[in-house]
Amino acid sequence: MSRTPLIAGNWKMFKTGPEAVAEATRLVELASGVANTDIMIAPTLLSLPLVSGAVAGSNVKLGVQNLFYENEGAYTGEVSAGMAKAAGAEYAIIGHSERRQYFGETDDAVCKKVKASIDGGIIPILCIGETEAQRDEEKTFSVLDKQITNGLNSFCSRDLDPLVLAYEPVWAIGTGKTATPEQVAEIHEYIRSLINRLFGNELAMSIRILYGGSVKPDNVSELMSLGDVDGALVGGASLDADAFIQIIRYDR
Ligand code: PEP
Repeated sequence: MSRTPLIAGNWKMFKTGPEAVAEATRLVELASGVANTDIMIAPTLLSLPLVSGAVAGSNVKLGVQNLFYENEGAYTGEVSAGMAKAAGAEYAIIGHSERRQYFGETDDAVCKKVKASIDGGIIPILCIGETEAQRDEEKTFSVLDKQITNGLNSFCSRDLDPLVLAYEPVWAIGTGKTATPEQVAEIHEYIRSLINRLFGNELAMSIRILYGGSVKPDNVSELMSLGDVDGALVGGASLDADAFIQIIRYDR
């Protein structure tokens, strides 16, 4: 089964509205000839409606970096899937390690957010990954088991059709340390086999599993050549359209 690669940029808490529009406009120009690769950027929520205008009609799609699982209500500081969609988002990054680490996001909240995304017509990108200490203690597989089993616990495989997974070893995020191709291949194969066990072969074969963690123009081709790697979730290198387009064009 062929899975369309997805190259997703997480802009985190960078760029004002005008800066985000300028970078997105440049990316739209650079990416205009790209076919057979899905492209997404996730600017800050404040920039989202502005960037939505800049990417309208292009092959650059938008995402949010988080959303809340209720539709509306007294939840200060939060936005719902419906609100994100109305502002132009087609994807949502869910359970990023920075949200787990700094904002106390639990697998239970992650699960509700994945469900809210799917119900709201937004493609969730569920982030999973072990810390350096957990890898050193040989807990990588059990951590991933728990994050996937608990993060998807109320789903059947049909519900999960739109789901994207992103394996992001926490020790490789923003550190310049990329996991080796052997490590990435081993984990991605493991994740796909776990999805097979939990939800069946059809979903396991169709689900896109991205790698994230210091992906750069000079390491993307090798990572993307691995059979179970279906794209990249990119932080730092997505902030500059000239670097990001080299990642998007990894096979050219
Ligand atoms: C990320 O934020 O998901 C990420 C992978 O960041 P970086 O590419 O900077 O390591």
